Amino acid sequence: MPNDRFEVVIVGAGLSGVAAALTLARNGVEVLVIERGDFPGAKNLFGGILYSGVLADLVPKFWEKAPIERHIVNRRWVVLDVDSQVALDLKSAHFDKPPYNNTFTALRSRFDRWFAEQAEEEGALIICETTVEGLLTEGDRVVGVRTGRDDGDVFADCVILAEGANSLLSEAAGLRRKMTPGNRVNAVKEVLALPSEIIEDRFHLEGSQGAAVEYFGGAVKGMVGSAFIYTNRDSISVGVGCLIEDYLRSKTAPYELLDEFKAHSSVAPLLRGGETVEYATKMIPEDSYDDFSDLYAAGVMLVGDCAGLVNPSIHHEGTNLAMASGVFAAEAFLEAREKQDFSRSGLESYRNRLDASWVMQDLEHYRGTVDFLRANREFVDSYPRITVELMRDYFTVDDTPKAEVRRRLMRKVRDEVNFFRLVRQLWQARKTLV
Ligand SMILES: Cc1cc2nc3c(=O)[nH]c(=O)nc-3n(C[C@H](O)[C@H](O)[C@H](O)COP(=O)(O)OP(=O)(O)OC[C@H]3O[C@@H](n4cnc5c(N)ncnc54)[C@H](O)[C@@H]3O)c2cc1C
Repeated sequence: MPNDRFEVVIVGAGLSGVAAALTLARNGVEVLVIERGDFPGAKNLFGGILYSGVLADLVPKFWEKAPIERHIVNRRWVVLDVDSQVALDLKSAHFDKPPYNNTFTALRSRFDRWFAEQAEEEGALIICETTVEGLLTEGDRVVGVRTGRDDGDVFADCVILAEGANSLLSEAAGLRRKMTPGNRVNAVKEVLALPSEIIEDRFHLEGSQGAAVEYFGGAVKGMVGSAFIYTNRDSISVGVGCLIEDYLRSKTAPYELLDEFKAHSSVAPLLRGGETVEYATKMIPEDSYDDFSDLYAAGVMLVGDCAGLVNPSIHHEGTNLAMASGVFAAEAFLEAREKQDFSRSGLESYRNRLDASWVMQDLEHYRGTVDFLRANREFVDSYPRITVELMRDYFTVDDTPKAEVRRRLMRKVRDEVNFFRLVRQLWQARKTLV
């Protein structure tokens, strides 16, 4: 095989690209991964929860060797208003033993590097500091990639695009819907260093246990999105992520939103004394299931974020979908390789595998989440606020008789909530939010 030809070229050494590379190399495929960062993970950012079901299949008992931070035993969903919070708190001993509910915190600069090493050990070649600038085509078939290096064309039977949310190559090839302010979240995240004993004390954790707290409503000024705090070993990840159209509408910059969130009276004590060691911003795709028409074409497949495979519901999962799609693309290539058919129909089994899996079943179920919230803004704005106010007023202790308090609260609900609209919304929400 000449140096400039591989069976598969993968663009991007993120979670989806490396999962594909590992699977291919393990099956004896000559695979090249091209990554623009100085090392895998150098340019990667996420909130911090690694959903690891697929990873555990690829690297059994990975938690014994991978540079993960903490396993999550405590999940909290919190609604804020200006000075109060109402929380739902889930802590379970079930999550405290292998496989730890497949939910870990991680820092991508450490984790991605390790994950890429697993693929290299299986035989994948990973080249960093190299940007793919375009796809090489013959007729309607993708036959390779053009990189920014001298003599930088590399040819392949199949190209797997794993370029992440900033999917310029996929869009240029017409394989992906264009980004719009209504289908992209902008997230900004800060990592604050704190001694592990302080983190464990503040979040009531022991050893490598971790906590994940997500905030809604006033935490993000009633925008479609959320704020989060995740515990790492000796740091805390804190961030906000909202639809770009909402930042524009409210004339709020993401960094201002993060500053306000960090200053909230319920949040500041959790972060006190933390020293900023990382600050970054990135986009998250929030496409709907209905946008997934072209996830593959002759000689090319799209995986992970550049295919739009992110669950936009309260589950906020992207990492496991990225890895699953990488594995499915690799398996589809292996099937196509047997027939030496890398045409569109030869790669069709990629989409079939996705459709038959939990990946597309979940995305189909939550296909309307973002549009529902955009059309029913009370769910991100007034309903969370009213919930906090009702709880606070109900439990405020003064000399008012409880019956009078109840009457006042019922009046407030009648004044502020349109009953029939709420019933209709809840009926619709059963299919999009739950
Ligand atoms: C702020 C934020 C918070 C998130 N929080 C969570 C969370 O808590 N849990 C969760 O499950 N998911 C979360 N996600 C989503 C999750 O991070 C993604 O779904 C997942 O990382 C997608 O993996 P990927 O391999 O598709 O893309 P990425 O991990 O983004 O990897 C893409 C890779 O391609 C490289 N690349 C791009 N273009 C080129 C090019 N032209 N040439 C060469 N290399 C290129 C990049 O440098 C990068 O290494 C979050 C995302 C963001 C932005």
